[in-house]
Amino acid sequence: MSNQFEKYANTFAKMIQCPTVSASGAEYFDKFQQVLKEQFPLVFSNLEVYYPGVDKDEQSRALLLKWRGKSSARPMVLMAHQDVVPADPATWTYPPYAGTIDDGKVWGRGTMDCKNTLFITINAVEELLQEGFVPENDVYLSYSDCEENSGMGAPYAVEWFKEHDVHPVVAVDEGGAIIENAFPGMKMPFAMVGILEKGYADVKFTAHSKGGHSSSPPNNTPIARLSAFVNYCETHVIFKRRMSDAALQMLKGISTGLGGALGFITKHAKGFAPLIVKALPAITPFGKALLGTTMTFTMAEGSKAPNVIPQSASVVANLRFGPGDKSADCIAKLTKLASKYDIEVEVLTAREHSATVDITTPEYKHFVDTMREQFPNIGISPYLMFGGTDCRHMQTMCLAQSDAPLATSILNNLHQCMQAMKTLTFNL
Ligand SMILES: [Zn+2]
Repeated sequence: MSNQFEKYANTFAKMIQCPTVSASGAEYFDKFQQVLKEQFPLVFSNLEVYYPGVDKDEQSRALLLKWRGKSSARPMVLMAHQDVVPADPATWTYPPYAGTIDDGKVWGRGTMDCKNTLFITINAVEELLQEGFVPENDVYLSYSDCEENSGMGAPYAVEWFKEHDVHPVVAVDEGGAIIENAFPGMKMPFAMVGILEKGYADVKFTAHSKGGHSSSPPNNTPIARLSAFVNYCETHVIFKRRMSDAALQMLKGISTGLGGALGFITKHAKGFAPLIVKALPAITPFGKALLGTTMTFTMAEGSKAPNVIPQSASVVANLRFGPGDKSADCIAKLTKLASKYDIEVEVLTAREHSATVDITTPEYKHFVDTMREQFPNIGISPYLMFGGTDCRHMQTMCLAQSDAPLATSILNNLHQCMQAMKTLTFNL
């Protein structure tokens, strides 16, 4: 291990050793931020440090760092989150919060999602400060403490920007990455740049009955009705599939990495749209997710005893709304369908898909050119994200000034991140 690698690994391991599980308590995040202060002293002595939202919720530990550039006209926001999802130690090779370094790798919860992004961005700023570099425009590091449970960290940061009349040109978050085999048959690694995040809903379906003893069961018990409903949803196309602009951009984007018929079809995805919409979902679940709204059942509840018919039973479905679908329309459709089975519908949580980033803007082109400069041997493609990140909050603010936000990051390599930050801030 080189000295430099050892230094990075040790610093990163210290960050992993803080079990910053979402909503676990402010004290865990205070310890984590103490580690940041010790490991990145120049960042904390040179940048302005803000805690957005702490005036509204004293438990909030969202962190916002402002690196003053030569100009404040076109600021950039680099995002990541401090929190992680829980981990069951029994299923881990090394304890999830030990930060074990083995075989050239740091092991632990948060190494991939997304203390890696946090480490890379803050460390890049630390080293650029050592070099005496001053960015052309202001750079903000925005690190929520509750991304994993869709908490208020990022919305608080957005409020801060609004209150301070700051209008970022670009926001970059986790989400995409440079990946091998982004698509079957892909020959080279591709940077997948998120340009849209799908919408999200958890919906509960409940069936009632008079209950009773299982020794003399009536027909159409709650579980039987729920099962019929679930089976119908699983075996029918409930939501219309379509070739959205984001899906089209993604297929065209990856076509350069594909050979043969697949390369030809994706390159001419617009012309082949009817064929792709019909055939791709039948071939791969990825096709279903790319071309429309998906729904899958994730939770079920019935009677507490094996010999008692439940008075009510329920299942929960998770939905991801594709571009072109509104949550209210999809849920209305489900409600109509569920009523045929005498099932009630309750929306637990719902949000719409994000707007699509305009990839024709100079800002997007500049971002892609910067990547190309840093990673000359990869392909780059827009990407329709099936998951969600904090960037959707920031995106609304960037769009307000009709500039180009980016819904995701590919800045996952330290050296490239530093260089890319130089170029990005220089020209934006
Ligand atoms: Zn994440």
